[in-house]
Amino acid sequence: MSANPNILATENPVDRNGGPVWHRLHSEREDVCEALLREFRPSFESQSGARGMSKEEAMRTADWLRRTEKWHRELLQERLCKIDDALDRLMSGSYGNCSRCGRWIEDTKLAFDPAVAFCIYCWQRMETNH
Ligand SMILES: [Zn+2]
Repeated sequence: MSANPNILATENPVDRNGGPVWHRLHSEREDVCEALLREFRPSFESQSGARGMSKEEAMRTADWLRRTEKWHRELLQERLCKIDDALDRLMSGSYGNCSRCGRWIEDTKLAFDPAVAFCIYCWQRMETNH
């Protein structure tokens, strides 16, 4: 019954502090990247004839779809930034602290969204300032 000293040597400090968080953030990051890489296919335009739409209607709907796609992409990019920030904080050891006031972020909030950067007070303040 001898302990293997190599186990300690390979232990990653990040895994010790927030292994599950790290993995959760990474797998979400992969999903977001994949969604961003997925090419937008305007299959709609080829279907529009079958739906009996006028050309103008079809164009307007295609335009709306493009704008929805753009908006969706912006959301994904925003999310990617947030995840990267959270991973940076995880690496630097400041993960779990509010990026604004340094207060400890509630566990329930982190469990709900591991990429959250602000405590409930700062978050509420930002929401009301909008
Ligand atoms: Zn705060």
